[in-house]
Amino acid sequence: MQTRGAYRTPDGLPHVDRARLESTLLTLGEIGRNPETGGINRTAFSVADLEARRWFISKLEAAGLTIRIDPIANIIGTLPGTDPGKPSLVIGSHLDSVPEGGRFDGALGLMIALELVHAISDLDISLRHPLEIVSFSDEEGGLVGSRGWIGMLNDDDLNRQYGGRTLRQVLREMDLDPDDIDRARRAEGEIAAYLEVHIEQGRVLEREGLQIGVVEGIVALDEYEITVTGVANHAGTTRMADRRDPMAAAARMITGVREEVLRLGGNLVGTVGRLETEPGAPNVIPSVVRFTIDIRDPSHLVLWRALSNLHEHFDTIAREEDVEVAWRTLAQIPPAPADQTVMQALLDAAGRYGYRHKVMPSGAGHDAQSVAAIAPMGMIFAPSVGGLSHTPAEFTRIEDTVASADVLLQALLLLDERLP
Ligand SMILES: [Zn+2]
Repeated sequence: MQTRGAYRTPDGLPHVDRARLESTLLTLGEIGRNPETGGINRTAFSVADLEARRWFISKLEAAGLTIRIDPIANIIGTLPGTDPGKPSLVIGSHLDSVPEGGRFDGALGLMIALELVHAISDLDISLRHPLEIVSFSDEEGGLVGSRGWIGMLNDDDLNRQYGGRTLRQVLREMDLDPDDIDRARRAEGEIAAYLEVHIEQGRVLEREGLQIGVVEGIVALDEYEITVTGVANHAGTTRMADRRDPMAAAARMITGVREEVLRLGGNLVGTVGRLETEPGAPNVIPSVVRFTIDIRDPSHLVLWRALSNLHEHFDTIAREEDVEVAWRTLAQIPPAPADQTVMQALLDAAGRYGYRHKVMPSGAGHDAQSVAAIAPMGMIFAPSVGGLSHTPAEFTRIEDTVASADVLLQALLLLDERLP
């Protein structure tokens, strides 16, 4: 491997070391790799995840950071700033993967963060703000580590199972005190800005031939369970006119979700992912059909409009089919907008390099979403080849990875200047 270190082009723009960044990505990509499929199996607190954590800690230490493990097992490496008492600039992402996941989800963000620390040292840059690199625990299981930062963990989280052990037990095995997770909370004002690079996990950037997506915010997400109740009856002897068939009604409602989402357009997406029927026999008209709706948009207002239209539409169908319909809320997650100053720094940085970019929402949840509750947040996306993610086929080109790293480095320097 030929590394030359980070460098500046004659126009003064800093560039990261491509070979070094590629090499750390490859090394991490060996930890938890299934040799048969190439899939990454680094689910939170598995043997492979623990190995990745140790490896990452050693890399951060070698880069000169001071390491602290917070009460929810987030790894935090700190580089002091030159102005005492300033809040931190924080760059985060995650080491854990889904089962048979890819090499880039989470890993890309942390390997770029590590490369930035090296680049800062190569280029003799001193930041006024302290810099923190954070690997959040169990992102894939529901933003566990980052929710710890905003005081949103509860007993359900602590009792969750990880390979036969509860999170409580896992934390104890790591010499952490599960009754102490409240102390993982970060105070408002402690973080000057939070930055994260993540793979896009979609095809917007690829389709438009772009290298960088500057995230304007993480979408609002609502989940509902719809129960349609009719009357169970014999499939052979009940005339069509005499039926109160919840399946026929549910079918119209499910099609209605798609039609309404397409009609409103924009960034709105809607999914029916689960369907259950009672009693579920081929020769019985069902008594009950249940299905879920997952609906997301960057704007609360758009979500609200879609949902109120769907409510009305479902009521009409229920009347026509002579069945009952009931909604139950499973989740309502508010949107997490990016901070304007942070977003501007990312846009300015992308513009200076001439990297092709656009502003876009994030349809997936990320640790940035939690942190946005207590600190100014900004995110960028690197293109996913074929839009694939959570599969061994997940891939992001090194040129695009380098572009993201350069932009993050430049944005970090701009924010260090611009933020109070
Ligand atoms: Zn991720």
